[in-house]
Amino acid sequence: MGALAAADHPTATELYEDVRAVNPRISKATVFRVLSQYSENGEIRRLHIAGSDDRFDATLAPHAHLRCAHCGKIRDVMFPELEPVFAAKCLEGCRVYAAEVDFLSCCPECAAAGADAAAESAACKGD
Ligand SMILES: [Zn+2]
Ligand SMILES: [Zn+2]
Repeated sequence: MGALAAADHPTATELYEDVRAVNPRISKATVFRVLSQYSENGEIRRLHIAGSDDRFDATLAPHAHLRCAHCGKIRDVMFPELEPVFAAKCLEGCRVYAAEVDFLSCCPECAAAGADAAAESAACKGD
């Protein structure tokens, strides 16, 4: 859990590498099993992100993700307008398990590196 909180939305494989650095005898299967158990118990969140292996998140408070289209970095974003979306339990007669909101974006580091000229605009400099 400590490794998960320290890492930034890691995949199971990335987390295994981190844990193995501290405890070289741990097996990949153990790490994967513990992650599955924790996510089924609702102690951590499993994120299904297009184009990526599932990632894991120790932050349980409802939040959206900003995913950089260039470097793949994922950052958390709290978005008060989305609270009703995250609170939905039933929609169109379907029981809702989870809402995942994922903004495809360009992070400030990639904007500074020239990945997307429009991302350098004043509108994106505000926060
Ligand atoms: Zn980036
Ligand atoms: Zn997150």
